[in-house]
Formats: sequence, C-alpha cells, structure tokens
Amino acid sequence: MARHTRKRKRKVSRAQVLGWIIAIVILLVALIGVLVAGLFRLLKPAEKPADDTPETTVVTTIATAKPTTTASTTKKTAATTVKTENIKHYVQPAGGVWYLKLANDWNTLPGDYDQSFTAVEYGGGLSGKLFDSRAVEALREMLAAGNAENPALKLQPVSCYRSVALQKSLYQRQVNKYLGQGYSQARAEEIAATVVKRPGQSEHNTGLAADLGGSGNYSLEESFENTAAFRWLVENCADYGFILRFPKGKEAITGVIYEPWHYRYVGKEAAKEIMEKGICLEEYLEQKGL
Ligand SMILES: [Zn+2]
Repeated sequence: MARHTRKRKRKVSRAQVLGWIIAIVILLVALIGVLVAGLFRLLKPAEKPADDTPETTVVTTIATAKPTTTASTTKKTAATTVKTENIKHYVQPAGGVWYLKLANDWNTLPGDYDQSFTAVEYGGGLSGKLFDSRAVEALREMLAAGNAENPALKLQPVSCYRSVALQKSLYQRQVNKYLGQGYSQARAEEIAATVVKRPGQSEHNTGLAADLGGSGNYSLEESFENTAAFRWLVENCADYGFILRFPKGKEAITGVIYEPWHYRYVGKEAAKEIMEKGICLEEYLEQKGL
C-alpha cells in the first residue's frame, strides 16, 4: 500500500516537472518573439497613420481665435488615410463656373488661383475667417438664420479660406517632418499628403469652404454630428447654397474622411440636388460633365 502510494507520487511529480518544462519553453519562445518584434520596430520605424485629418491639422495651426478654450492643439483622429485606389477619379475640365470649382487630390487649383477672387472677412466679431466675397453673404445668412431659429445653436465659422501659398508652407512643414524621420522624398511627400493636403488640393484654398461649429462643439471632430447645430446645418444648408462636402460613405471618392463640420458653397441649384440625392460634389460634377 505504502509502495503503491510512493510510486503514484513519483509519477505525479514527473508529470509536474514535464509541465514546468513545457511552460518554461513556451515562455522562452514568447520572450524571443517579443524581442524580435521589438528589434524589427527599432530597425524600421512604424508607419504612423496620419495623426490628424487633412483639414484639422491646418485648422489647429492657423486658427487664431478659437471659440473653444480647449488646450489641445494636436487632435488625434482615428482613421485618416482614405483608400482611393481602384477608383477612376473625375478630372474637371477647365473653364467651369467659379462656385463649382473642384479642389481635391486629383484636381489641383492653379498657383495663381488666389488672384481670381477677393477674400473678405466673415465678420461677426471674429477675425481671420476669410471667405470668397461672392459667397460670404450666403454664409452669413445661413449662420444667422440658424442662430435666429435657435439661439442655443451658436453657429460660427472656425476655419475658412487659406491661400495656396499658406497651404504650401503647411504642407512643406509636414514633408520636412517625415524627411527628418528618414523617409525618402517621395515617401515623405506621400505621407505628408495624408495629413495636410498638397497646395491647391485643399478645399479651403477655394475660399468657398468653411469648417463650422455650434452647440458648444467647435472641435472639428466627428462628435459634432451629435449636435443640434449639425442637424440644423444638414437640414438647411442647401437653402443657402451649401453642402455637407465630405459625407460618410463617400470617402473613397472625395479622398477625405467623413467631416460633419465642413461645408462648401456650390450655389443653391447644385446644393439642393446634391443634398437631396445624398451624393458628393465629385459625383454631381461627373454626372453633369461640369
Ligand atoms: Zn474643412
């Protein structure tokens, strides 16, 4: 009886030893895996996803009078890189009307575009909110109408026009940042363009785009879509010739993430059709051949 017990005891301890050996081997393999992965990361800097949306980076850099008191100047937004491969992008023919001018990754405004219009202050106690003089009244009317209907909306422009020249310097700054991280010129330019649009490719260069805030949210973040200000804008912007420029689901066509805060003047006729059909400006222009 006693012998039998001893024998069983020895068996159990042998199994335990085997168990320990297996556990140690697994631990070692895991440790080596972590070390190798770490080494790889050291050798090749991880390709960081863009740390800002194409529009927000610039906004936080140049906004001089932000209505909010938030200290954050480097906003992080999750998905900023938009997959646009495998899509044939519309290239706008020259000579269209001024309010339908397309500026995106595939349509670059000419270097002298800034001379084709006059930028004026939006006003309303704000400074540095410039807009095309031919459309600024429509912007003022729209925001005034929303605020008159519901004073709690407190609709206000956060960022409007920026010149191609300013876009160029903002873009170059990003390129330099990635060059400094050891990327090639071509790669640095490519990554920089996911953070700040190339000169002439940002819609803010047209003088017809405005990033708006309201209902206490001037963050230019997706959370804006949960505000009464956003709901009012989406429902009423077309009446003033504006559209929600970067809608959800059209990212591959516009090349820009969903931006509930960004509105673009296109004139009442186009605005009504675009908003009613739930299409984006690129689709509208292509359908009309404009
Ligand atoms: Zn914008």
